[in-house]
Amino acid sequence: LGSQAGWRLEHSYAQLPEMFHVKAMPVPVKQPKLVVLNDQLAGELGLNAALLRREEGAAIFAGNELPHGAEPIAQAYAGHQFGNFTMLGDGRAILLGEQITPKGERFDVQLKGPGPTPFSRRGDGRAALGPMLREYVISEAMFALGIPTTRSLAVTLTGEMVHRQESLPGAVLTRVAASHIRVGTFEWAAARGDRTSLKALADYTIARHYAELVLVGVEKVYVEFFRMVMERQAALLAQWQLVGFIHGVMNTDNMSVCGETIDYGPCAFMDAYDPATVFSSIDQRGRYAYGNQPLIAQWNLARLAEALLPLFGEDEKQAVELANEMIESFKERIEFYWLRGMRRKLGLFSEEPGDRGLADELLEWMHQTKADFTNTFRDLPGVGDEQWRQRWMERLDRQEQTFEESVMLIKASNPAFIPRNHRVEEALEAAVAREDLSVMERLLEVLEKPYEDSAEHAEYRSPGGTEAEGYQTFC
Ligand code: AMP
Ligand code: MG
Ligand code: MG
Repeated sequence: LGSQAGWRLEHSYAQLPEMFHVKAMPVPVKQPKLVVLNDQLAGELGLNAALLRREEGAAIFAGNELPHGAEPIAQAYAGHQFGNFTMLGDGRAILLGEQITPKGERFDVQLKGPGPTPFSRRGDGRAALGPMLREYVISEAMFALGIPTTRSLAVTLTGEMVHRQESLPGAVLTRVAASHIRVGTFEWAAARGDRTSLKALADYTIARHYAELVLVGVEKVYVEFFRMVMERQAALLAQWQLVGFIHGVMNTDNMSVCGETIDYGPCAFMDAYDPATVFSSIDQRGRYAYGNQPLIAQWNLARLAEALLPLFGEDEKQAVELANEMIESFKERIEFYWLRGMRRKLGLFSEEPGDRGLADELLEWMHQTKADFTNTFRDLPGVGDEQWRQRWMERLDRQEQTFEESVMLIKASNPAFIPRNHRVEEALEAAVAREDLSVMERLLEVLEKPYEDSAEHAEYRSPGGTEAEGYQTFC
């Protein structure tokens, strides 16, 4: 039986061997206050938003009360952080359970910032309002852009301060995800050298996210599982590249095995096209620069393959060869999804061998002229140098569809509105400094319909100018 608010929580992940989780209770806070609640998402989850807003929402989303049926745990995982292997785990996150939606889907409901867990090490388990709102805004923008992502259900103020370089208002984000199983979760099992638990995790992940593998009864199920994880990552990474999204901290613990964008820390969208773009203050060597993201994803997947190796077959040498072959193919898979998406961005319905070159030339022009990535594509019929435009027009002429149809494809494939850095900062600043949420609410409204032209919102298309140069993001 559910509750009045619609909670229907299950706990399938907690059935996994003990090494993968530990009981953890949110620590009550002084003064829970709901800052933002995602009505649409609440509805999809089968939750009564009006009731949550009126009654139990603030207390639950701050961790002061547990929703009906919750069995809170912290999840264990390891990870390569900037290349270095570490044992980690949810140090500032607690999973309340898996909400079963009216459609029968299963989503993790997780509190981020609910106080320390056994994995907190020296951390306080807390989060500041600014970064939690940042995750809310950008994850919801990604969702509206049609990119697989975790989502944000609510942000609550705690009424307590958190101490970083400065004192900041504390907050808790309620995050909703298809699951929180990471590449690092597999690394955790592998590092413990426990094949039985590793297999249990793989079987669980397959049943939850790759059930088609079981249904068709494929041979070498773990090899195919890995191939499909790669496939989803290739599709995801291509989408990031095509909208100029920079994750910022692509450690293996921040890569979800089900193919969702996860763990929004120092992420941001690129303005002027430059593959070397980095915003994260802690990424001093540009490991996670825009242009490096596909390569890093491949590197992370190689770590996943290493972890899964004991399941790839008896003959270790053969298993390694197979894994290497699959990982080699990742570049091609990204290229496939990227070019498919790029054709749409360019208004191309058909395929010609010269299309990659056509795209590269435009990107090269954008790089040299520091053109805005988002707006260049959105305004395509009117941009690019003379020569390029002529080539592109000739290319359009060689397909059946009319120019108008191409323009429609361009408008449907290139967002007018992305979360511009100065707009995000402005929204967070108003919320943090003045508890004024109206700026963020307006921004969220614009980002909800990224592909719809709107004269009223035209100023949200502007890249923000010089302040964007040297723009830095923080975890
Ligand atoms: P992230 O870089 O946000 O993905 O976090 C990396 C690791 O550090 C994860 O295991 C987090 O749970 C942990 N962590 C980050 N911030 C805190 C904090 N304030 N308290 C405890 N653990 C934290
Ligand atoms: Mg993380
Ligand atoms: Mg994080």
